[in-house]
Amino acid sequence: MPKVTETVLEINLNHLEHNFSYLKRKLKAETKFLAVVKAFAYGSDSVSVAKKLEHLGVDYFAVAYVKEGVQLRDAGIETPILVLHPQAINFKELIERCLEPSLYSSKILTEFLEVAKRMEQKNYPVHIKFNTGLNRLGFSQDAIDDIYEKLDGRNEIKVTSIFSHLAASEDLTEKKFTLKQIDVFHKIALEFDKKLNHKPFKHLLNTSGIINYPEAQFDMVRSGIGLYGFGNEARIDAELRPVASLKTSISQIHKIELGETVGYNRAFTSKASQVTATLPLGHADGIGRQYGNGKTYVNVNGQKALIIGNVCMDMIMIDISNIDCEAGDEVIIFGDNLTAEEFASTSNTISYELLTGISQRVKRTYIDS
Ligand SMILES: *Cc1c(COP(=O)(O)O)cnc(C)c1O
Repeated sequence: MPKVTETVLEINLNHLEHNFSYLKRKLKAETKFLAVVKAFAYGSDSVSVAKKLEHLGVDYFAVAYVKEGVQLRDAGIETPILVLHPQAINFKELIERCLEPSLYSSKILTEFLEVAKRMEQKNYPVHIKFNTGLNRLGFSQDAIDDIYEKLDGRNEIKVTSIFSHLAASEDLTEKKFTLKQIDVFHKIALEFDKKLNHKPFKHLLNTSGIINYPEAQFDMVRSGIGLYGFGNEARIDAELRPVASLKTSISQIHKIELGETVGYNRAFTSKASQVTATLPLGHADGIGRQYGNGKTYVNVNGQKALIIGNVCMDMIMIDISNIDCEAGDEVIIFGDNLTAEEFASTSNTISYELLTGISQRVKRTYIDS
């Protein structure tokens, strides 16, 4: 592997393939697989991730917003793309780029029907989202009649699937609540099928749903974090491989004496003669201030080095007093050993937030054999 000489987010597409096969093995052969590639594929790179998954035969993609779907279409992705949270202002572009909306309220359904009519669409694929307890987006169960009335006699759109989203699939202390959500979705599915003269496909599970409630896989599952190497529990993390590794190299080393301070606001004071290293990444790259001041460590030549003082916009300083290293040496912020989940947990957040926060300033590099 080439030595890192600047800050890079290394994206391992072999690991993506491993995670995809691992999750597929948890499912029936006929269950479709939707890969969630919103937010730059969880902060990695949506185009290269989507291209790899399309090549591996994924059935569907999901993004949050229309512009994310447009980016995939511009890159030549042809697989169907579900837009989870579209806005009416983007419906024309959504249709022009063959993106498929999640319709989650009467207002958004009416607005979409109008645009589809104006654009002379026939059977345009849409997905109806139901709220079964997350209370974020979605029709309630008792809106089925209303939805049906709006669709009756209209041929501009066709309901391709209906779906819902679990609130706490990773938390087994909430099992009762999750089973209730699954049950409500079952009832919605039955009632909805009775109304229509075709059967839309059904989907409910995210990554932790696949792990903990495989019996509720319906016709498709929607996985994000699992593809990127995290399963919301150590047992699953051990089976998966992190796709993104954040690496950098030491810019400069300082020897400081007892009582000297490091960084802005003199937030760190040396208690002895110490050695520090300055790294070329900071909160503008997605390593927030919460990771500073002795909370979190990085990996230098296989050893842990604490981040000291305040995280700056473009730099962090680490304590390397007991580590044999020099300027130019590689530093791993997170990756295969010190994982994004471990790094994130040092300041009470989760891998999802750390990964999606790695900014576009950080260069992406790729491993794919
Ligand atoms: C983000 C998202 C997912 C993916 O969840 P993971 O926990 O990352 O697998 C699935 N479904 C919906 C509706 C989402 O918003």
